[in-house]
Amino acid sequence: MSKGIKLGKRLEKTIEDVMLVAGQLTSKGWAERNAGNISLDVTAQLRLASSGFKSYSFTRDAVVPACLAGRCLLVSVTGSHMRHLALKPAENVSIVRLEKNGYRVLWGKGVGGDFPPTSEFNSHLAIHKLLRERKSDKLAVLHTHPNELIALTHMPEFSGGNNCNKLNGLLWSMHPEAKIVIPQGVGMVPYHLPGSQEMARDTAAVFRRHEIALWEKHGCVAVGEDVDAAFDLIDCLNKSAALYLLCRSAGFKPRGLSKAQLSRLADFRK
Ligand SMILES: [Zn+2]
Repeated sequence: MSKGIKLGKRLEKTIEDVMLVAGQLTSKGWAERNAGNISLDVTAQLRLASSGFKSYSFTRDAVVPACLAGRCLLVSVTGSHMRHLALKPAENVSIVRLEKNGYRVLWGKGVGGDFPPTSEFNSHLAIHKLLRERKSDKLAVLHTHPNELIALTHMPEFSGGNNCNKLNGLLWSMHPEAKIVIPQGVGMVPYHLPGSQEMARDTAAVFRRHEIALWEKHGCVAVGEDVDAAFDLIDCLNKSAALYLLCRSAGFKPRGLSKAQLSRLADFRK
C-alpha cells in the first residue's frame, strides 16, 4: 500500500466503490488493455494539509481551470488497467490536489511526486469545470468502451455525430429503462483524436445538455453523483443498443416501443 494521506472511512468506502465498478467494466468486456478512465471529485471527503507534498506542473498540455484549483480528484493514471484497479487501487489511481498551474499527489500512484494522469484528462477537467460552475451534485466522470454503443456509432446514419435525435429515438424505443433513466438522451461527439483539446471542447459542450455522451467510433462518457451512478447510465443505454443489434442479427428490424408508450414513460420518475 502506498504512503500518503490517511484515508478516512468515507474515502475508503469510495475507493471500494471505484474498485467494484472497475471490476464490472472488466467483466463486461468494456475495458480492454488500458481502456477507460475514471475521475471523482473527493474534495468534500478530505480534510488535509497538502503543504507537505511537492507541487508539480502538468507535463501534458492539460490546463487546470481556475474554478478547479484547490479541488481534489481521485483519478486513474495513464496506462492503468481496470482489471488491476479492481484489485490494487493504490497502484492505479492517484488522489491529487489541483493547483493553478499543477498538482500535488496526496495518495496512491506517484504519491509525493510526479504522476501521469489518464490520457483523457483534458476531457475530465473540462467536464468537472462545467459541473462545478453549475454547482452540480455530480462528482464522478467515467469513460469506458461499451461494445454495442460503439458499434452503433459505426452505422452510416449516425456517423459524424449526426442524427442525435434519431439515435435517441432508437435507444429509448428499445427498452423502457433507457427513457426513464436517461430522459435527456445521449449527446454525440464526432470523432476526434483521443486526448485532444478538440475532444475535450466538444465533450464539455455536450454535457451542457446531457449526462452521457457517445464518442464516435471510440466510447462513452457519463457523469454521476458517484462512479456507480455514472456506470448505471452507460449500462442502461448499452442494454438498448445490445437489444437492437440482437434483433438485427436475428434477422428482423425491431419496431420498438410506440410513440404512445414512450410518451407515457416521460412522466415516469426514476
Ligand atoms: Zn477510450
